[in-house]
Amino acid sequence: KVILEVNRLKKFFDVNRNQTLQAVNDVSFQINEGETFGLVGESGCGKSTIGRTILGLYHKTAGEVLYDGEDIHSLKENDRFKLHKKMQMIFQDPYASLNPRSTVQEIISEPMEIHRLYRHKKEIKERVYQLLAEVGLQRDHANRYPHEFSGGQRQRIGIARALALNPEFIIADEPISALDVSIQAQVVNLLKEIQHEKGLTFLFIAHDLSMVKQISDRIGVMYLGNLIELTKSEQLYDH
Ligand code: ADP
Ligand code: ADP
Repeated sequence: KVILEVNRLKKFFDVNRNQTLQAVNDVSFQINEGETFGLVGESGCGKSTIGRTILGLYHKTAGEVLYDGEDIHSLKENDRFKLHKKMQMIFQDPYASLNPRSTVQEIISEPMEIHRLYRHKKEIKERVYQLLAEVGLQRDHANRYPHEFSGGQRQRIGIARALALNPEFIIADEPISALDVSIQAQVVNLLKEIQHEKGLTFLFIAHDLSMVKQISDRIGVMYLGNLIELTKSEQLYDH
């Protein structure tokens, strides 16, 4: 079953009064439920912009994005809020995306509080412990601050936060490229495990093809704002 449909999506940025940057130029693809779809290409080719436009964080210039048949960009604010419960994002730099003044407990609780997932603080706390275990962190990490962790651990915190609302769909935007090479495989394996266990649908954005090949069922290759190849993972550049 197709869960996400990106149809002829365009996203242009006005660089100045008489210059437009065509960051995403007429891109179409579909992602099936439970699938991991990799989006690869050189830095600056438009991958992040697609990810953000899919979530409605950017307005589109043209085209449409359908999630489970619903046009994300024409949803009313309240419906988009509800949709964001199902769709979560994992970012490249876990340090920049985690509030340095919040404890791990607060960071992971925040989406649950915003979406009023539980009525009692105690339930949230238990859920935080459960999420920490799922991403390979410990209970007593809950009261610490992001700077007390390594890059790989911080990305685990970001992943726990993204999982807090039991999402269906996760966009991981360069989730490993800010990490030491030795840590990258661990985080990829964790994401794989989570994908398998929960049957999540993943859009995995990266410039490094080898990692994406390991994790993705299908891959879309971007070049200068265009999707130039769309193929099953095992068929891509098989030498
Ligand atoms: P990638 O994720 O593939 O590295 P991006 O989607 O981040 O590429 O960027 C695509 C192009 O759009 C780049 O030229 C980038 O500078 C530009 N761009 C991205 N975000 C913005 C923005 N908010 N305003 C203007 N230009 C942007
Ligand atoms: P990424 O690492 O996701 O490719 P960058 O580090 O290039 O993103 O950019 C960081 C932020 O600045 C993002 O929100 C991106 O959308 C925005 N951005 C990127 N390029 C430009 C640009 N040319 N003009 C304005 N904003 C930009």
